[in-house]
Amino acid sequence: MPSNQSIDFKAVFYRLLTYFKSYKSALIVAFLALVIYGLIDASLIYYIQPLIDKGITGDDRSILGVGAVFVLLIFLGRGIASFISTYTMAWVGNHVIRQMRQQLFSKMLGMPVSHFDSHSSGSMISKITFDTEQVARATSQVMISLVREGVTIISLLAIMFYYSWQLSLVFFIVGPLIGLIISVVSKRFRKISKAIQTAMGQVTTSAEQMLKGHKIILAFSGKEKEAKRFESVNNKNRQQAMKLVGASASSTPFIQFVGSFAIAAVLLITSIDGLIDPLSAGEFMALIAAMGSLMRPLKQISKINADFQRGITACASVFEVLDLPDEVDNGSKLTERSVGDLNISKLNFSYLGQEKQALKDINLSIPAGSQVALVGRSGSGKSTLASLLMRFYDHSDGRITLDGTEINDYQLDNLRQQFALVSQQVVLFDDSIANNIAYGALGEVSEQQIYDAAKAAHVLEFSDNLPQGLNSPVGEDGANLSGGQRQRIAIARALLRNAPVLILDEATSALDTESERAIQDALEVLQQGRTSIVVAHRLSTIEHADLIVVMDEGQIIETGTHEALLEKGGAYSQLHNMQSAQG
Ligand code: ADP
Ligand code: MG
Repeated sequence: MPSNQSIDFKAVFYRLLTYFKSYKSALIVAFLALVIYGLIDASLIYYIQPLIDKGITGDDRSILGVGAVFVLLIFLGRGIASFISTYTMAWVGNHVIRQMRQQLFSKMLGMPVSHFDSHSSGSMISKITFDTEQVARATSQVMISLVREGVTIISLLAIMFYYSWQLSLVFFIVGPLIGLIISVVSKRFRKISKAIQTAMGQVTTSAEQMLKGHKIILAFSGKEKEAKRFESVNNKNRQQAMKLVGASASSTPFIQFVGSFAIAAVLLITSIDGLIDPLSAGEFMALIAAMGSLMRPLKQISKINADFQRGITACASVFEVLDLPDEVDNGSKLTERSVGDLNISKLNFSYLGQEKQALKDINLSIPAGSQVALVGRSGSGKSTLASLLMRFYDHSDGRITLDGTEINDYQLDNLRQQFALVSQQVVLFDDSIANNIAYGALGEVSEQQIYDAAKAAHVLEFSDNLPQGLNSPVGEDGANLSGGQRQRIAIARALLRNAPVLILDEATSALDTESERAIQDALEVLQQGRTSIVVAHRLSTIEHADLIVVMDEGQIIETGTHEALLEKGGAYSQLHNMQSAQG
């Protein structure tokens, strides 16, 4: 998040204006309605003078009758103007919210994976939900206040000058003083708005954590701990909100108090004989009423600044995300369907901000159509290697080639189309089993194809028991399914994708041995005719691999076939013996 000082308010403001450009006509309608509203408000004050001087103290009673009709009309007109302005401004504002949300969403979709490693999803969500809303609400409010109250203030001042320019001058002594207060207050507003946004992000993050980890929290008796944690961010949010209320609530009476000096001065000056031209009762009343009526718009104007600050800060926070770099996609090479020949040489890799290297001097050749198994302790870099192949992270040191071309030279989408991935964490979308299987299939797929994939991955075994079969919903992130069932769907998805390179990253780890064996057949069929990289969980599943690569601490420490490695009696044979002993 940008610090206050670093926000270029002007630049952000001009950029924000571009969002409103497409809604010019609606804004003009709103603008006119606001002007009319402001004028009507002022005209009420103007008619105090004739009402009093002619109708009350004078002898033209009929003007009171006219006034009766006039009052009705005025309030009707005011109501209509109010409705039109509020409605159109909200219409524009909500369009801007929609547009910004869409942009943020698309932006986040295209951001590098590393961004999400270092930013909590809560803070990102809060940008989409909260910050955009703030932008629109604040800017609409600014426009409403600025135009409507601006017109009211100018008209009221004109009325004052019309009745007595000498007394009106008083306003210009008090005016700048009020301006000074506003500027002091707005600085504080700016600071607090920023803090509120941060606090809001923390509330979302904390809530999200609770919702995601609900079961673990229950299992590890973390209820109190989480409640405490939330209590602290929740309270921080409240404190910031109260600070804002405090600043806003104290500034209003203060400004009004300063304003009351103007009225006091007017009374005082008028009390001194011969100082100014004498005023009629109506003129005097209109003048005092105008001064009193200035208070409300002045108060609104003092809030404008706060709204403006809030809007711009929120806007800056939105733009900050929109300006983040996209995934690097400089390559231009396109391939219809690669052969699947992978080559890795002198590859080193560290995660951003991590001192330890995740991969060290990896050299590996994976010929087209071969099966390579990666084994090793957890944290040895197997998943990292798989991620680099699909360019979830960019490697800058060393080379990875697909069919002889550096993977960075491929167009990113095109490169990823060459892969089908079943990862450790199966992600399912809140949709039917069938649609989850069809997700990411290249081209159109028929129901039969989905059915075949489901059958091969042993999805039918459990989907047949569900009331709607393959069309049963999986629930949010597959909540209705077991880990093994989720993995089978993920495997079916990979089957259907039919890509030249298959990456199975502990794809069967959540399956029991029996189902794993059953699916193994499906996987073997799947691996035929394509390159496959299998991160194995149980060594028994990769004994037939063309090449077994043993990794440790980011390095390749052994390579060979099952037999060769056993014979060698190194790390692999140790792992093997350990697993055999466990059965
Ligand atoms: P494996 O799949 O073999 O269990 P990983 O490739 O997931 O191992 O991890 C290799 C190393 O990289 C570990 O030390 C791990 O802590 C680190 N690591 C993995 N993912 C990230 C990440 N997103 N950010 C920073 N470090 C990571
Ligand atoms: Mg892993």
